[in-house]
Amino acid sequence: VFSHVVQAPEDPILGVTVAYNKDPNPIKLNLGVGAYRTEEGKPLVLNVVRQAEQMLVNDQSQVKEYLPIIGLSDFNKSSAKLIFGADSNAIQENRVTTVQCLSGTGSLRVGAEFLARHYHEHTIYIPQPTWGNHPKIFNLAGLSVKPYRYYNPQTRGLDFQGLLEDLGAAPSGAIVLLHACAHNPTGVDPTLDQWEQIRQLMRSKGLLPFFDSAYQGFASGSLDADAQSVRMFVADGGECLAAQSYAKNMGLYGERVGALSIVCKTADVASRVESQLKMVIRPMYSNPPIHGASLVAVILKDRDLYNEWTVELKAMADRIISMRKQLFDALQAKGMAYKLLFILVIHCTPGDWSHIIKQIGMFTFTGLNTEQVAFMTREYHIYMTSDGRISMAGLNSRKVPHLADAIHAAVTS
Ligand code: PMP
Repeated sequence: VFSHVVQAPEDPILGVTVAYNKDPNPIKLNLGVGAYRTEEGKPLVLNVVRQAEQMLVNDQSQVKEYLPIIGLSDFNKSSAKLIFGADSNAIQENRVTTVQCLSGTGSLRVGAEFLARHYHEHTIYIPQPTWGNHPKIFNLAGLSVKPYRYYNPQTRGLDFQGLLEDLGAAPSGAIVLLHACAHNPTGVDPTLDQWEQIRQLMRSKGLLPFFDSAYQGFASGSLDADAQSVRMFVADGGECLAAQSYAKNMGLYGERVGALSIVCKTADVASRVESQLKMVIRPMYSNPPIHGASLVAVILKDRDLYNEWTVELKAMADRIISMRKQLFDALQAKGMAYKLLFILVIHCTPGDWSHIIKQIGMFTFTGLNTEQVAFMTREYHIYMTSDGRISMAGLNSRKVPHLADAIHAAVTS
């Protein structure tokens, strides 16, 4: 009965690792997947996570019972504080409902299902480009997905004018997906001034913000600074949704820990919204897993562990920033040697790489095209998504020269 089933393509992002794993060459380098690696190229379990894990093991009161449908209460409260700020009016006025979900993806999916059932406008605008899973998540929930301009390939920066025009032309009430910080895949974020203009435009048109916060603390190293965009929208008293992930900032990728918050106008509405979120979640997976959320709750509630977490988080963010600098320097050095020749012979330079240090977060949107990416994989065993996105978190000092050689060869060959 299943013989008609056709082979589905590999996921464009996870498929990169599948191809990497098959490559026997020892010089291979995987810059495809957005998971942090140490300078030694190893996955990292944070010290605070190890400590929290030990505390849970020693605590005899810890059991493996089912959590409630909306998850661990302490985790939900602490997650709301983390993203909205402990002094947020919305939290103090009990206008926020937060439910534990399966990492960022699950939070987006539950939010999308809720909107499809209970929100009058079924169009969601997503930035162009965006994380490849976004359109699939929203389409499957029954929303209609439209793009808004975001990235300008010429400047390798924000197409702010295009963004304002597209959101300005969106029907009133439409949902707008916003990356809270460290936009994936471009690494290009609006400035605070630009965020303020986006906020004013969206509020004046009644557009509903749905924030995807997968990298809080990873962009700047500061949890508060990376939540500024979200907090601006909450401070004005209007509604919004926020999907949080602890995959990157606590390194809890496989534990699948995240939260969906919906900020409402009143406490009464928030409580009714929560009751409907339960109706969404129960038939999907009944209730979320206990272990990862317990770890996060321990770390967010214990002042010492929390402080230690911020130090470890900053160290990860700083290493990524340092990789940007090292790659930029290596490309600059190579470029200089060829620059004169290029100007003389074909009237162009091998490239301006300043976007590598201007972009923020885990990824650099290199500007390399599909053929150049294929060349680098074929000739240099370097793996990345075909849109030219590289994970700076997968890079280390020893591999920088190899990557710089490959990029240089790709753009000059
Ligand atoms: N949103 C964005 C923009 C992401 O980059 C990711 C992770 N790649 C996610 C959401 C969700 O990740 P997870 O489900 O692992 O938390």
